[in-house]
Amino acid sequence: MTISILISEVGPRDGLQSIKRIMPLAAKKAWITAEATAGVREIEVGSFVPAKILPQLADTAELVAHARGIPGLTVAALVPNLKGAEAAVQAGVHKVTLPLSASESHSLKNLRRTHAQVLDDVRAIARLLGGLPSGERPHFEGGISTAFGCTIEGEVAESKVVELAEALMQAGCDEVGLSDTTGYANPAQVRRLVAAVKHAVGSSSLNGLHLHNTRGLGLANVLAGIESGITTFDSSLGGLGGCPFAPGASGNIVTEDLVFMLQAMGISVGIDLSRLLEVRRILIDALPGEPLYGFTPDAGLPLGFVPPTGDKS
Ligand code: ZN
Repeated sequence: MTISILISEVGPRDGLQSIKRIMPLAAKKAWITAEATAGVREIEVGSFVPAKILPQLADTAELVAHARGIPGLTVAALVPNLKGAEAAVQAGVHKVTLPLSASESHSLKNLRRTHAQVLDDVRAIARLLGGLPSGERPHFEGGISTAFGCTIEGEVAESKVVELAEALMQAGCDEVGLSDTTGYANPAQVRRLVAAVKHAVGSSSLNGLHLHNTRGLGLANVLAGIESGITTFDSSLGGLGGCPFAPGASGNIVTEDLVFMLQAMGISVGIDLSRLLEVRRILIDALPGEPLYGFTPDAGLPLGFVPPTGDKS
């Protein structure tokens, strides 16, 4: 295969927001630097939410400043609203993602906002970003969470996800992404929904999937995504974390296992897997006793494993 896939590490945001302990700033910086050194090209370093809501991510602006000093790294952050987007712009992020929950009940619980209110914020953020010089304008993604099912509402209608994707693009997002916040997705559903959303908003306006491994289908869903034209996947080192607002959702897909699967398939990701595996040490030392996941880290690389040409090793 000649396709290449971008892996976006979200552990410093999605992972850390779901555990109670606060990782020291120095360890976070070391984690981000080490992953970038291993070849990871995009990292979501935090979220611009009030510190009283998520004290684990209170140092996001400092992490953005640190990560911006790493050549070639795209520095991403989550923003819950216009105020968060203003702080993200101030900090100098390259990419902002605003979550919109396909389930309105989940949206009310998570962001305390209806769909209409979130879309108002999207328009305001698009105006804010549109007023910046092009070199300083972050890429703006609308991330549709609970796109594959919700712990409050159960099944989420695919027509609702399509409708919200269209609304996000009309409100000024540069692209939309689909998030399986609750780990409900299956590969057939991924194929259907990706095709439907790409058909509605244009193929190039949906590139990314954010998958959790709650029921063990994370990598199967990645494969379905690749076969449907998805080129960016969020994952978390050691599968750290999940969504604190979606009970039962534990752990993003594991970056190490994702890299192994793709490289074993001959798909280039630009990452040195041996070096990536060593980055876990930073998490183990900074968060002793915190559960880490992944099969490849325990099993090791197969004898004679050769990564695709172009990937570091
Ligand atoms: Zn997540």
